[in-house]
Amino acid sequence: PSCLSLNGFNGIKWHRPLELKHVLELKSRFPDAKLVVGNTEVGIETRLKKIHYPIFVSVTHVPELNILTINDDGMEIGAAVRLSELQRLLKKVVNERSSHETSSCKAIIEQIKWFAGTQIRNVASVGGNICTASPISDLNPLWMASKAKFKIVDCNGNFRTTLAENFFLGYRKVDLGKNEILYSVFLPWTRKFEYVKEFKQAHRREDDIALVNAGMRVFLEEKDQKWVVSDACVVYGGVAPVSLSVVKTKAYLIGKPWNKEMVENAMEILKQDVVISEDAPGGMGTSVGSPEVHMSARLQVTGEAEYT
Ligand code: FAD
Repeated sequence: PSCLSLNGFNGIKWHRPLELKHVLELKSRFPDAKLVVGNTEVGIETRLKKIHYPIFVSVTHVPELNILTINDDGMEIGAAVRLSELQRLLKKVVNERSSHETSSCKAIIEQIKWFAGTQIRNVASVGGNICTASPISDLNPLWMASKAKFKIVDCNGNFRTTLAENFFLGYRKVDLGKNEILYSVFLPWTRKFEYVKEFKQAHRREDDIALVNAGMRVFLEEKDQKWVVSDACVVYGGVAPVSLSVVKTKAYLIGKPWNKEMVENAMEILKQDVVISEDAPGGMGTSVGSPEVHMSARLQVTGEAEYT
């Protein structure tokens, strides 16, 4: 049979289809069915938050959702690909492709290094992290900053694509209908003089949830013998109900020469973009989680040494 189906306690039904079309059939018959891959988020909801999901669809064995394809313009990563596997492939890509093309890949490799521990990384999926839309997800700021696109398929097999930046609508709320699932992530290669950097600040260096994290991208162009920011995207996690793309700072950065003054001014403007109240959950609004501290650190690492 192409789908293993089991009955559990409390009337729970668990299906493990082997083809995408069976996933879509199940989702069409049971729109509230809970997709599951590593169960590292769903398990917390069912065991600790006592949420009852009557129907599970495990998509671990669906080949279409496990693709890892290298294209001329970037790579496509199936939604069910596990983080350890993604990290392995990214390392291979970094070794094989021109260095300037893989700035996003390097940032993601570095971020996955500090993502949970080995056991979680071996089962946790790319799609599970994205669709949970945790405001403290370590990877969502990087997908957004890297201009990644998410491919979505509905129960009739129709595909649509959306920019990662437009996918996160609110606190744990994403642009997915009940009849849709995430199919894959497209990560474009970076261009020459385009740089992506990751950031994560946590209490413990290893296996800890971030206090604040970030994904940042700048694209520099040489104009009148100066390096000028021609495009930028700075996204913070842990400072708002969603991964937050900073609008005013971005508008300021574009067109500015890449130098210390720019960094200092950008940090001032950042305070308008990222406002953390004194009574913010976690109580770290004004101390270690302060985003301008991290932006300063990152911008200096990304380019100042090389370009001024
Ligand atoms: P699951 O629990 O299987 O699913 C999560 C959600 O995604 C569910 O709602 C499911 O229905 C939905 N879903 C899955 N696939 C699809 C799809 N294709 N289409 C639509 N919906 C889909 N997160 C971090 O960002 N950084 C960390 O450092 C970190 N550390 C952790 C440490 C521990 C101990 C634990 C338990 C979790 C941690 N997490 C962390 C959170 C979690 O591991 C990740 O979000 C993980 O990537 C989720 O993947 P999963 O396959 O286990 O998701």
